[in-house]
Amino acid sequence: MVQSEGQLVVLSGPSGVGKSTLLRRLLNDFSALIPSISATTRPPRDGEAPGVDYHFLPPQEFENKRNAGEFIECCQVYGREYWYGTLEGEVTPRLTHGKWVILEIDVEGTLSILARYPQAVTIFVEPSDPAHLEERLRGRGTETLEAIERRLEVAHRELRQSGHYRHRVVNDSVDTALANIKTILLEAGFSNDPTTASA
Ligand code: 5GP
Repeated sequence: MVQSEGQLVVLSGPSGVGKSTLLRRLLNDFSALIPSISATTRPPRDGEAPGVDYHFLPPQEFENKRNAGEFIECCQVYGREYWYGTLEGEVTPRLTHGKWVILEIDVEGTLSILARYPQAVTIFVEPSDPAHLEERLRGRGTETLEAIERRLEVAHRELRQSGHYRHRVVNDSVDTALANIKTILLEAGFSNDPTTASA
């Protein structure tokens, strides 16, 4: 049997929209979907584990990898504070083996991915009401006021760029948003059955 090629899925949305919860539940239900672990120069938050949430890299190591061409996309998110990037090693070997790989990255990163993988399934998660973003970010209590303001500014800019995505999902209820994302993936050809080609 000819093994079909894998597929890239990109999930984006403004900070505070609830992407991480959606992604966690999606990965739990669709075990054949593989998350790409991004690299970042941001220090870990409480409860984050290296190699699980991110590959946390010192700035010099990140730069060395960037210069060595190890990223398929990378950029400075949040007003040029920290670097984030997708390592080629997280993606290419899986695609070659017919797997579906999901990236949770920002809009700028998505545009780079689309230039290289125009067939990527791109999904933008939107809040039903942008005012909820602010509540969630402030409620999270993990960041300084200045950092929150910066994230909000980026969030509003990202919301204006959601037209670059093939699919948009409103996250007013996690269950409904999750169901919609699953439908998008299944209609794009994803199969969670490990005996079929996409697994
Ligand atoms: P965090 O809240 O984890 O500090 O930041 C997450 C933000 O950085 C989100 O907007 C997320 O989409 C973006 N991000 C995470 N990893 C990557 C990556 O590898 N590339 C890009 N371009 N953005 C990323």
